[in-house]
Amino acid sequence: MSSATKSGATTPIPLSRKPAEHAAFGPPDGTRTACIRTFGCQMNVHDSDRIRRMIQDAGYAEVQRYEDADLVILNTCYVRENAVDRVRGHLGELTRLRREGRVKRVALTGCIGAAEESASLQKTYNIDLVLGTHNTYELAEFVGLPTMRETYTPELPGTEGEHSAFVTIMTGCNYQCSYCIVPRVRGRMVCRPIGSVVGEVERLVAGGTNYVTLLGQTVDAWRHEGKRFCDLLEAVSEKAPRVWFTTSHPSNMEDRTLRAIGEKDTIVKRLHLPVQSGSDRMLKLMHRGYKAERYRRKIEVFREAAPEGTLSTDIIVGHPGETEEDHEQTLKLVADCAFDSAYIFKFSPRRGTEAADLPATVPDAVVGRRFLEVLRQVEQNAFARNQRKVGGIEEIYIRHGSTEDGRAIGETWSGHAVHVRTDAAPGSYVEAEIESAGPHVLYAGDAR
Ligand code: SAM
Ligand code: SF4
Repeated sequence: MSSATKSGATTPIPLSRKPAEHAAFGPPDGTRTACIRTFGCQMNVHDSDRIRRMIQDAGYAEVQRYEDADLVILNTCYVRENAVDRVRGHLGELTRLRREGRVKRVALTGCIGAAEESASLQKTYNIDLVLGTHNTYELAEFVGLPTMRETYTPELPGTEGEHSAFVTIMTGCNYQCSYCIVPRVRGRMVCRPIGSVVGEVERLVAGGTNYVTLLGQTVDAWRHEGKRFCDLLEAVSEKAPRVWFTTSHPSNMEDRTLRAIGEKDTIVKRLHLPVQSGSDRMLKLMHRGYKAERYRRKIEVFREAAPEGTLSTDIIVGHPGETEEDHEQTLKLVADCAFDSAYIFKFSPRRGTEAADLPATVPDAVVGRRFLEVLRQVEQNAFARNQRKVGGIEEIYIRHGSTEDGRAIGETWSGHAVHVRTDAAPGSYVEAEIESAGPHVLYAGDAR
């Protein structure tokens, strides 16, 4: 069993947007329809944007319900077993819809597609096409386009014309964390040249994008021809009106980058820095490459550089070998760092990773208790920190327009998620007073 809880008030990752217009092949003919479902992280959301572009080029109209789709594409995550369980559930439903003649073809892409398990899934559910993360371009032929090996590259933008956009700056990962399947399904790190990244950012901004999120599994490990991540971040922050980046690795995070977050007006003062554990013994077993003290020091630099900023992390509870003493050290680190939010995961064994074969597994009941203790600690800190924002006037970037209750969801420059009463369009800014706060979100009054 594995599960994750996001606790705290930093803004949600931008979700997949509506499909972008694409002129090259004209409007879809309306006779073929496709539905894309995305599971997992922002990298997968961004990959789905590219897949969307491909099916639009092939003349498919995108639909939201399986029953309206000729073709269903499941773009999947393999990081924890519950992600695979969810996909199995969807495949079961699709089998039924196919039997009823409503869905004609099913394709599975993404991280499950790159794992050995995909062969048995393909057989069990009679999936028409299975693709990993490195050959997604083969979907082109499947949907009736000429091969896209050359054009369907990580550099193909998928989000032009939207108010916010993801920009992939690196793919893969060179670490070998004991528990993690990512290096197996995404391969080793490949960094994109700085000119290519900045060029895409310029095009996006010229097309109306106000918010750029730089993406990578270890985004701060980016380096290319003598340039390091901070050089790239600074270059992008000169071109885009609002910039964020994720996910960072503590071993690659330079003090220079932490200071740049504080200094550059266009960078959102929000840091996501996964720690995984507060115990040096566990960090060593996990092969994380840093000690808790080094992590704490990074946080001190960040808090000094951006005192109003928000800090989030990832924590795994119940990794094999985790003792009560290790868990206590995690609780202490959580208290010391006063995270504004955290993704807390119960350890999920992944076949092919080192931790899957380690002895000393932690009983489910103990994992459950530790999970709740970490969650409570994070929420207490987050609530106390959010209370300090009440009464202040904030400039808020609107991410999602208002729903029936008249509230939109926005983000402050400090990276806090805010519900605000306004009908302002996504991508615009409003000012409002923070009237109250919970552990996960701030609530503002009417926008001025
Ligand atoms: N590259 C990032 C880093 O190094 O922190 C994280 C990428 S991973 C896709 C996102 C998070 O999933 C990790 O930070 C970790 O907390 C969690 N995770 C990865 N494998 C896991 C596993 N086998 N069981 C539970 N959580 C896991
Ligand atoms: Fe997985 Fe570790 Fe790489 Fe992050 S750094 S993607 S947790 S192997």
